[in-house]
Amino acid sequence: NIGQLADEANVKVYVVGGFVRDLLLGVENLDIDLVVEGDGIAFSTRLARFLRARLRVHEKFGTAMLVWDDQKIDVATARREFYQHPAALPQVEASNLRQDLYRRDFTINALAIQLNLPAFGYLVDFFSGRRDLEQGLIRVLYNLSFVEDPTRIIRAIRFEQRYGFMMEAETLEFAHEAISRKMIGEVSFERMFDELLLILQEKNPVPALCRVTEFGIWEFFLPDLQWSDGLESELANVTTLQHLLKEQQWWDSKSQWISYFLVLTKHLKPDGIEVALQRYPLKLWIREAIVTISEEGFRVAQELDKWLKGGKNSELDEILQGWSVEAFLSLRATYPVQETILLLEAWQAIRKTSISITGNDIKALGIKPGPIYGEIMNRLRVERLDGTVQSSE
Ligand code: ATP
Repeated sequence: NIGQLADEANVKVYVVGGFVRDLLLGVENLDIDLVVEGDGIAFSTRLARFLRARLRVHEKFGTAMLVWDDQKIDVATARREFYQHPAALPQVEASNLRQDLYRRDFTINALAIQLNLPAFGYLVDFFSGRRDLEQGLIRVLYNLSFVEDPTRIIRAIRFEQRYGFMMEAETLEFAHEAISRKMIGEVSFERMFDELLLILQEKNPVPALCRVTEFGIWEFFLPDLQWSDGLESELANVTTLQHLLKEQQWWDSKSQWISYFLVLTKHLKPDGIEVALQRYPLKLWIREAIVTISEEGFRVAQELDKWLKGGKNSELDEILQGWSVEAFLSLRATYPVQETILLLEAWQAIRKTSISITGNDIKALGIKPGPIYGEIMNRLRVERLDGTVQSSE
């Protein structure tokens, strides 16, 4: 028991942040954040030994991460932060729980539950976070919160939409004020990208993206993006398609953001695409997908439409050669979902189709190695896809 360990180590230990918020809301959350009043690292070492967990320590920040099986606990030493200048990363020094909670983004994220035994389960609520949770309000802890860290505006939007909450009136005013002072422009592109990614990983990102539009802050994410009803319904289609795909094994929900991102970049003009490619740390295949969609998307979409009217599997295989599911979804987002599902089913069947013949088999037939091998394999693949040749398996 963590509480007992804390008592033995003579430190106070609390579970804090998102875990407590979601516990009170009755929402599942497996990310456990602990704050220790005292030596957080010494306590982490004890805890790791007790749990037989792997331990990674950041001496400089007084933090540690414990990992065992597929579980994870973050441990931090209670700290106080101060900012050298607005929108900079904070300086940190050791402190007590209240100070630690005060540096956080919103009252609903500044709740803690004590784990030490005599007080086990005691809810620490310095800033009326529980009341705000009950009333569905996102409230900052101090007036300059958004000026010190403008990414909190985007976090506010995300939590608002995720839980169906609203920004409390004064908080909303602070947000508008920070936006009109262009504070978000001070944030690095990497951090902006992280925030956009977090929105796009939400169960349904569309309402939060609409809110980004209402606040008029697209310029800080993707300058030039023109929001429209059409774009909104494309994004909604992606949500629908992804929900259907979640049951499939060839879909990894960790990359859910990519399809949305590709829909957004599809709506940019070449200059806007250039900016996105320059700013964001995107993997090469995603960069290539952005460019391919912009240059070849229209043609491929037309070919797919034609295929639906009666095409062979090998033709679909050919059309979608080199396309990822993510890029495909963004391309098909303008079309009726039902037809896209037909395409996906056919495509998936094709991907499962393999030819079991190898170069050695062809050699055994007495054919001399050469370019002809590639042609034979290709031919077989086409015949196999179109059902003219059955596998012997
Ligand atoms: P999610 O469910 O999206 O993971 P979370 O609240 O657990 O939400 P994290 O990003 O994991 O979010 O952050 C953990 C905690 O750290 C938050 O609950 C909040 O108290 C604090 N925090 C995170 N980002 C900020 C920030 N920009 N400013 C202040 N506090 C923050």
